Amino acid sequence: MQFNELYDQLKSIHGELGKWWPGTTEEIIVSAVLTQNTNWKNVQKALENIRNNCEEDILTCLTKKSVQELSALIKPVGFFNIKAERLKNLLKWIEKYDLDIQAIKQLGTERVREELLSIKGIGKETADSIILYALELPIFVVDAYTKRILERILNIKFKEYDEYRLLFESFYPKNVPLYQEFHGLIVEHAKAFCKTKPRCEMCPIEQCGYKTRRETK
Ligand code: SF4
Repeated sequence: MQFNELYDQLKSIHGELGKWWPGTTEEIIVSAVLTQNTNWKNVQKALENIRNNCEEDILTCLTKKSVQELSALIKPVGFFNIKAERLKNLLKWIEKYDLDIQAIKQLGTERVREELLSIKGIGKETADSIILYALELPIFVVDAYTKRILERILNIKFKEYDEYRLLFESFYPKNVPLYQEFHGLIVEHAKAFCKTKPRCEMCPIEQCGYKTRRETK
């Protein structure tokens, strides 16, 4: 398979996923921090706690909470003390813009990314998830699944996060719905078939480098 066929292949297997990341803009911002190293069910439980504790919109509500209060609300996600610190740092940054998401969006992808990456505890995957799914600006999100799928199917391996991101951004048009769905397709494929121990015998992708390499060994 060629790199530029990957999206169509995955879409033919997993169908239309649309935006894929669920929730309101505010919930996506919060869940991008919570989702690291945990499963989505735990993120949902934490979001449920937050919704039950917030009478106003969640960003306004959470900015008034201390790190300890945030920790208690997000307990289901694990590493909750660290994540509460990160969330607090992120909320302080959003507060600088009066919690006005549109004003942040107007800064543009590069500036927003630069500012997000200067926040303690916010890494590239989290920053790019916020940019793509919450702010709806075009940037490709790379995660461990992306790296695994590229290496296995196409024998592509880089050292740096941004090398993966730029590969996608140079081959595929800078289009928000496309990037949102594409990242979702990669995650769904890795969860369904291309697991740590791949289920190649059940996987519909025939032209996979990993499969071929294994068969010719
Ligand atoms: S054939 Fe195997 S290695 Fe290739 S994408 Fe499918 S599960 Fe992954």
